[in-house]
Amino acid sequence: MAEEVDLFVIGAGSGGVRAARISSGYGASVMIAEEYRVGGTCVIRGCVPKKLLVYASRFADEFEDAAGFGWTLSEPKFDWATLIANKDREIARLEAAYTANLDRAKVKIVKSRAVLLDPHTVKLTATGETVRAKHILISTGGGPHLGAPIAGIEHVISSNEAFHLTELPKRILIQGGGYIALEFATIFNGLGSDVTVVYRGENILRGFDDEVRAHLRAELEKRGIKIVTKTIVEAVEKIDHGLCVELADREDIVVDKVMFATGRRPHVDGLGLEKAGVELGKSGGIAVNEFSQTSVPYIYAVGDVTNRINLTPVAIREGHAFADSVFGGKPTRVDHADVPTAVFTEPEVGVIGLTEAEACRTLAKVDIYKSTFRPMKATLSGRDTRTFMKLVVDGHTGRVVGAHIVGPDAGEMIQLIGVAVKMKATKADFDATMALHPTAAEELVTMREKFATHVRQAAE
Ligand SMILES: Cc1cc2nc3c(=O)[nH]c(=O)nc-3n(C[C@H](O)[C@H](O)[C@H](O)COP(=O)(O)OP(=O)(O)OC[C@H]3O[C@@H](n4cnc5c(N)ncnc54)[C@H](O)[C@@H]3O)c2cc1C
Repeated sequence: MAEEVDLFVIGAGSGGVRAARISSGYGASVMIAEEYRVGGTCVIRGCVPKKLLVYASRFADEFEDAAGFGWTLSEPKFDWATLIANKDREIARLEAAYTANLDRAKVKIVKSRAVLLDPHTVKLTATGETVRAKHILISTGGGPHLGAPIAGIEHVISSNEAFHLTELPKRILIQGGGYIALEFATIFNGLGSDVTVVYRGENILRGFDDEVRAHLRAELEKRGIKIVTKTIVEAVEKIDHGLCVELADREDIVVDKVMFATGRRPHVDGLGLEKAGVELGKSGGIAVNEFSQTSVPYIYAVGDVTNRINLTPVAIREGHAFADSVFGGKPTRVDHADVPTAVFTEPEVGVIGLTEAEACRTLAKVDIYKSTFRPMKATLSGRDTRTFMKLVVDGHTGRVVGAHIVGPDAGEMIQLIGVAVKMKATKADFDATMALHPTAAEELVTMREKFATHVRQAAE
């Protein structure tokens, strides 16, 4: 007879692990299936290893900048193999910690792919066993999508493989203009590779504030990253000394590696969704209501597989809210408004809330405050870089509805500004806060002069 559990979780990533642990804490019997490694994208091949590589790449600036502060260093040497081995050791430690936490929470882990057979039955493909579950949570995340197949696509890597390259490429071309493409561009640039970013649109970081996009592009170009927009990779050919990349209406480029970061797709294929009656939404993710419940009442879905806001803290929050709602007797909706987010490029980007353009579309009156300045550290280091900050304010209520920063520690700053924005702080509240000197963040509470006011004309 098939084993029976209260909850079967498919996918041990950010959302699934949180949901499993909290549900078990409420007394549910829980089984979780993972086909690759416990921890999911964030821990194994996303946020965590990415940030470790970002740290590695930032030492290059530190070594250079030190001279202006009186330091003399011998020529620094970098070893890619050491970095990757140390990163892998840390990821293995985290995977073990996630596994131990699930064990402690009495969640049964099965290392297998799981697929749905019907609304209450899951099949473990590794053994062929079936499990009956009162509730099923789908938290299978998403994966890189390389776009329409082109000639030579077999030579193209995604972020998954970028974490495991055996050597640092001397020349790399990265197609994509989103945060993953730009973070890897910064990583490889900092570690010494010659980097070209190719993006089909007008400018990088679609969806971000236009001035953030322009400022970041200029800063990345100053660092020597070549950004080629309004074109696409048409073919990749293996040649004697690398890969020849054919671009639409542009000269070919010869590099050692080609990486595509052209988007991610929810992991829904082959999951048996149709057998269980689970429907997809317009975005290609599993359609869910505000409680993450799918079209089948006892099946829920959280995280990237729902394609709402594809970030780790969001998946975790959704997983926790699921457990509270279904097993904790506390129906909980996740608030998806004003989610702070960062791009760990160099310089870093941190944003929350509305862009200037979005505010102009949705609010009757919008006030803009902004500041561009040279970071204090750059005065002695001589580095050619500028920090950019913008506050978007509702002109009628005074509420700060958007904050945008490009500069050192932008992510750290925006996490805390997030609290103020969530509390509906006004520009007057920002002004009433004493500056902390000397910091970059003090600019956020000392922007006295309005840069612009936009008033929307009443519709005819
Ligand atoms: C390069 C990169 C950098 C990122 N950086 C950041 C960042 O800085 N900050 C941030 O917030 N987010 C970042 N993200 C996004 C973040 O990793 C995801 O939003 C988050 O991991 C989503 O969690 P999840 O639980 O939905 O899915 P995942 O963490 O992807 O977990 C899904 C798990 O399900 C497993 N699985 C899939 N199908 C099955 C099946 N049928 N049976 C069993 N197991 C299955 C997978 O192997 C995987 O382990 C990054 C992503 C990438 C790729």
